[in-house]
Amino acid sequence: MTSVQLYDTTLRDGAQREGISFSVVDKLHIAQKLDGLGIHFIEGGWPGSNPKDVEFFDKARDLTLTNAVLVALGSTRYPKAETETDANLLALVNSGAKVGTIIGKSSELQVTQVLETTLDENLSMIADSIRYLRAKGLTVFFDAEHFFDGFKANSDYSLRCLQVAAEAGAGCLVLCDTNGGTLPGEITVAVEAARKITDVPLGIHAHNDSELAIANTLVAIQAGVSQVQGTINGYGERCGNANLCSIIPVLKLKLGIDCVTNEQLAKLTEVSHYISEMANLVPDAFLPYVGSSVFAHKGGLHVSGLMKWAESYQHIDPTQVGNQQRVVVSELSGKMNILYKAKEMGLDLPPGGKEARKLLQQVKWLESRGFQYDNAEASFELLLHRAKPNYKPPFELVDFMVIVEKRRRPPARENLEEMLSEVVVKVRVCDEIIHTAAEGNGPINALDQALRKALLQFYPSLAQVRLVDYKVRILEESVGTAAQVRVLIESSDGVNEWRTVGSSTNIIEASWLALADSLEYWLLKQKASPDSVKVDF
Ligand SMILES: [Zn+2]
Repeated sequence: MTSVQLYDTTLRDGAQREGISFSVVDKLHIAQKLDGLGIHFIEGGWPGSNPKDVEFFDKARDLTLTNAVLVALGSTRYPKAETETDANLLALVNSGAKVGTIIGKSSELQVTQVLETTLDENLSMIADSIRYLRAKGLTVFFDAEHFFDGFKANSDYSLRCLQVAAEAGAGCLVLCDTNGGTLPGEITVAVEAARKITDVPLGIHAHNDSELAIANTLVAIQAGVSQVQGTINGYGERCGNANLCSIIPVLKLKLGIDCVTNEQLAKLTEVSHYISEMANLVPDAFLPYVGSSVFAHKGGLHVSGLMKWAESYQHIDPTQVGNQQRVVVSELSGKMNILYKAKEMGLDLPPGGKEARKLLQQVKWLESRGFQYDNAEASFELLLHRAKPNYKPPFELVDFMVIVEKRRRPPARENLEEMLSEVVVKVRVCDEIIHTAAEGNGPINALDQALRKALLQFYPSLAQVRLVDYKVRILEESVGTAAQVRVLIESSDGVNEWRTVGSSTNIIEASWLALADSLEYWLLKQKASPDSVKVDF
């Protein structure tokens, strides 16, 4: 069986994506997570290029890594300069890393046009730098920058660069598609040519500019490469690097290459989401293997198939990569979606399917009125509860009034005008009617304030519920009717998040429905009882 070593460069190439900036502490936490995932080499940064990376390697001396070896990156020495006094190489030695990866040019044009030196001098730079680090006791990997582009233009010179690096003692020759423009067939040809001239292990470093980074990585492995460089979630310079979150499961589950254990593979989704959070990016729901939507089933036919045979609409078992199968409910659903969902929520519907069919009709009718449940599971769960004959809602709206006013300020500031919103709400809890009013910076905010004011008297713990996202969409789904407004609200209690939906031709009513669902759902989950917490007023 081919053996493959995983080399992660999220902390260096990944951090080169526009908008990402990891702190030293973030980097240390990420290194620990990557170690748990079974990554063999973690490129921690480029200590010769910035003080943050120097600090990282300093602090990383205290990290306990079980699987991974920390790698420091640097480049070959400057043209016509001494190796011993090269600050970049010195920083690499001082980093304390046992492995150093050296970037060197392996393309004729890059040497003459960008480096502006001779082809021979570039070969000396490669050899000198590798020998120097080897003499300092480091294992050295050679990143052959622009190898594939160079190979197309002048293959002899690109291969010569590899040969020189191998002779100088490099432990791996990493072929880089630096600009990400190479096609899989070209990768195969170039890797096979490299394979013929050296026995030193080869690696692949592919960028995703042609959306081929993963394909290029896989064909390189099939042509004999044994080190795979990539990043978590494919983060990286420009369009990004080869995505290890896809490569690892492909290697393990499809090609039978045992690069990580089953337990490590099951951490993949968690690690992917963790690193998104660290990068301050919303996890991509549609990222293969690890996205929250990539094992979600919406079509009724699909769900009915899944209930008979789990693999009928899934290429792998999602739990292998730590993900989970989900069924979403929508107008495209069948009875099976409703039954499946009810079971998942612990609300078994009676067999026979009469209730499920009724609920399905209700969902379809509501969706035709602008509601949408595939992204508002809390509202769907409430539908199921409300269908139960003995269901008692924790509160009920009697009525509300919204006043939106544009007011002129007092004469001294008479050129200032302001918008004021005030809401009066009447809510029933058990048999009591509570009447409250509140102001807000807009009508929705005022509505939220007034409703909370009423409910907090009965349910003080509601204070921890926050509205974290509010989305409005105008729908023009059928000609001849007034446009519907759909409001999606995301709420959080600091631990859990849930989403609710409301729809109406009136934005205030749509917002009210989503808002009331959000609070009702939370109270239901908390099994909050008004009698036990009621205070006198
Ligand atoms: Zn790169």
